[in-house]
Amino acid sequence: MSETSRFRSLEDGHGALKGAQTAWDMLSEEQMQKHITTGCEELDAILGGGIHCKEVTEVGGVPGIGKTQLGIQLAVNVQIPVECGGLGGKAVYIDTEGSFMVERAHQIAEGCISDLLDNTAHRLKDFPACPERLQPNSFLANIFYFRICSYTEQIATINYLEKFLEEQKDVKIIVVDSITFHFRQDFDDLALRTRVLGGMSLKLMRFAKKYSLAVVLLNQVTTKFVEGSFHLTLALGDTWSHACTNRIILYWNGNDRHAYIDKSPSLRSATTPFLITGKGIRNATSHCKRVRMM
Ligand code: ADP
Ligand code: MG
Repeated sequence: MSETSRFRSLEDGHGALKGAQTAWDMLSEEQMQKHITTGCEELDAILGGGIHCKEVTEVGGVPGIGKTQLGIQLAVNVQIPVECGGLGGKAVYIDTEGSFMVERAHQIAEGCISDLLDNTAHRLKDFPACPERLQPNSFLANIFYFRICSYTEQIATINYLEKFLEEQKDVKIIVVDSITFHFRQDFDDLALRTRVLGGMSLKLMRFAKKYSLAVVLLNQVTTKFVEGSFHLTLALGDTWSHACTNRIILYWNGNDRHAYIDKSPSLRSATTPFLITGKGIRNATSHCKRVRMM
C-alpha cells in the first residue's frame, strides 16, 4: 500500500480505527453484562451479580476448599432458563485432575431445580415447556466434559475449542479444573511454561469476548515458607495469569469457608462466607437458601 492510500484508509476510518468503541458503548455494554449465579447470594453480591460473562475469573484455594464444587455448580447454574432469570446456556468442563463427579453434578442439578421450582413456580406457569427442561438429566446433557491427561492434550483441546464453540453457540461458560495441574508435574522449562500458560489464558480470554461467555480457571494454592511464616501462593505464581480479569480466593476461616475478591478491575476487595451443602454452594448466613434470581 502506498503512503497516500494508507493515509486515506485511516481517514476513512478503516485500518486500525475500524474496531474503535466509545466509552459510552463500553458503559452500556457493562450495564447489560450477564452474570452466572454462584448459588450463594452473598458471593454473587460481592462479585457484582455473579461470575461475569466476557471475562476470565481465576478461583484459587487449598485442596478441599470447594473449587471443584463451585465449578460444577456454575456448569449447572449457567443452564437456569431465561424465564427464571438465568442464561439458559450450556457448559464446557475441562477436567485435568479427574475430580468431576457425575453423581455430584446430578445432585447439584437436583438442588438447583428444586430451588427454582420453589422460587419461580409463579413464573413457570407461563412457560409450559420449562418444567420438561427442568430435569437433572437434561442439565447433565448440557455439560460438555473433556478429560485431559497431559499438558499436550490440554494445549490441543484449548486450540480445538474455537471450532467447538463455533458449532455450540449456546456455551456460556468454560470451566478449567484446574489450569495448572499438568504444568506443575511434567514441565521443567520454566520460561516456556509461563509462555504456554500465558498464551492459553489469552486465548481463553479471546473466546470469552468473542462468544460472550464466562471463563473460570480453577487453580491450586500452595503454602510457601517465607521469612519465618507461611504464605499462600497460587500454584506456578501469577506471572502467567495477566489475562485473568478477576481473581477469587477461597479459604478457611476456622471451620468456615470464605471467599475473597483478590483482584478485579471493577470490584472492591471484599469477603463473604459460603457453605457447601448437599444441594451445592449456598449462603452461609441466611436460612433462605434460594438460587438468586436476576
Ligand atoms: P477442591 O476442588 O478445592 O480441592 P472440592 O471442590 O473437591 O475441593 O471440595 C470437596 C469438599 O466439598 C469436600 O471435602 C466436602 O467438604 C464438600 N462436599 C462435597 N460433596 C458434598 C456434599 N454432598 N455435601 C456437603 N459437602 C460436600
Ligand atoms: Mg478440585
